Amino acid sequence: MIVNGVDGDPKPTHFVLVPFLAQGHVIPMTDLGLLLASRGATVSLITTPVNAARIRTTIDRAAAAGLPIRFVELDFPCAEVGMPEGFENVDVLTTHKQIQYGQDFFKAAALLQRPLEHYIEQQSPRPSCIIADLCHPWTRHVARNLRLPRLTFFSMCCFTLLSFHNIWRFKVLDGVKDDKEPFEIPGLEQRILVTKAEAPGMFGEWEEMAEEVRQAEFEADGIVANTFEAMEAAYIAGYAEAMQKQVWSVGPFLLGCTPAFSDKAARGNRAVVDVPQCLSWLDSKEAISVVYVSFGTLTNMKPAQLMEIGSGLEAAGHPFVLVIKDGERSREVEEWAAELEEKVGPSKALLIRGWAPQAVILSHPAVGAFITHSGWNSTLESITAGVPMITWPHFGDQFLNERLTVEVLEIGVSLGVKVPMSWTDLEEQGPVVPRDAVEEAVRSLLDDGHEKGKKMRERARELREKAKEAMAKGGSSYLNMAHLIEQFAQNDKKREEVNGD
Ligand code: UDP
Repeated sequence: MIVNGVDGDPKPTHFVLVPFLAQGHVIPMTDLGLLLASRGATVSLITTPVNAARIRTTIDRAAAAGLPIRFVELDFPCAEVGMPEGFENVDVLTTHKQIQYGQDFFKAAALLQRPLEHYIEQQSPRPSCIIADLCHPWTRHVARNLRLPRLTFFSMCCFTLLSFHNIWRFKVLDGVKDDKEPFEIPGLEQRILVTKAEAPGMFGEWEEMAEEVRQAEFEADGIVANTFEAMEAAYIAGYAEAMQKQVWSVGPFLLGCTPAFSDKAARGNRAVVDVPQCLSWLDSKEAISVVYVSFGTLTNMKPAQLMEIGSGLEAAGHPFVLVIKDGERSREVEEWAAELEEKVGPSKALLIRGWAPQAVILSHPAVGAFITHSGWNSTLESITAGVPMITWPHFGDQFLNERLTVEVLEIGVSLGVKVPMSWTDLEEQGPVVPRDAVEEAVRSLLDDGHEKGKKMRERARELREKAKEAMAKGGSSYLNMAHLIEQFAQNDKKREEVNGD
């Protein structure tokens, strides 16, 4: 076991963070760890060698800043479940089209139970609390065995969590005719219609996993969410009431991670572009003129679909940054990308082949719209940057996040996709979204004189200011974080009095 990081005087409260090993989970949990440590708690963030290598800059920056955070590398037992060595992050499975290992990956993760218990047992004084990702339901056994409190971390908003919960609780799916029949989500503030195809449950057909996760959720001592009250107070309260648990809304984490201890450009991975060059490309553009296009870390576009997006962007006539993931790259795509760059010109098109410094790009004033798959992290990053979205959900929580963006917050336009496209979907198919739809959506947000776009931008900016207020000293998320740390400090004290440990 390798432990990186500062090991100074143990602070009274010690949180053990266990992120699920997918970028959309590792990134916010790392931000949460940095935040807790910057607020005076000790943090052990559980990771693996491959994942730690990706965030080396973050580890070094935190150590240089003297933050009491340790990055604990446990060996990921690939061989024990028959997976090739190095398959330590879900994006490796999608990149290599190794989807047959999907369920093995969860089995390997569950085998971390004993090494994690071993690490916790070695700590003196005992840690205060485990904060574990929802995709690690096995951590409830660790908490029970070691008699530690456990909070569940959801990389989702409470609107989506409450929606999933209510659809399950009121057995709504039992009453729908087919995948396409719209139904109203019960128990929400607002009338929201979805279909079973869009909201089949958190784990879709994977009922066994869904049940495990539900169990872990019910047994948890509370819930930590990367969200803030001014954005969705009713849904945070509604979810807390439905679960009969405290929901700690302490986000957006990104806004609390200052350059003093966190490098925005190195979140999750090393960017393939030179960041200063990328920034000077953006500097050369007018304010609110650039479209940023990226679909997260797990959805892989087919070449024909990428080409269709490219044509739509070209026709809209605004400069754009298009991210092409490693898993999407092929000779055909490379040839097309080179042609597109030549045709549109380097001043109009910036194509990033691999990992993009997304949070840095989104917060640049030149960016005026984000075409996104509506992953929660991407959505929240857009909100914290005040950038309206063009939404194209693919699977999981993304359709519900789209509803929040478009119907509740009214800071986005939908591309109208109704059929999920999972990362396990490998069969060839033609483009789902035509170039005209891409062009129209971009124009609706960025062309002069579009009232709708202007209103959305105003609302997005207001929300950005509220997000900043929430994270600033005295703001709702700032205070919630203080209460969270204080509660576990008190808890430790009581435990010490009772048990002497
Ligand atoms: N991300 C990034 N660069 C990339 C692709 C993704 O920084 O090239 C980050 C993005 O900023 C976000 C996370 O990866 O923090 C993706 O999480 P999200 O929930 O949006 O989508 P997922 O990948 O989980 O579907």
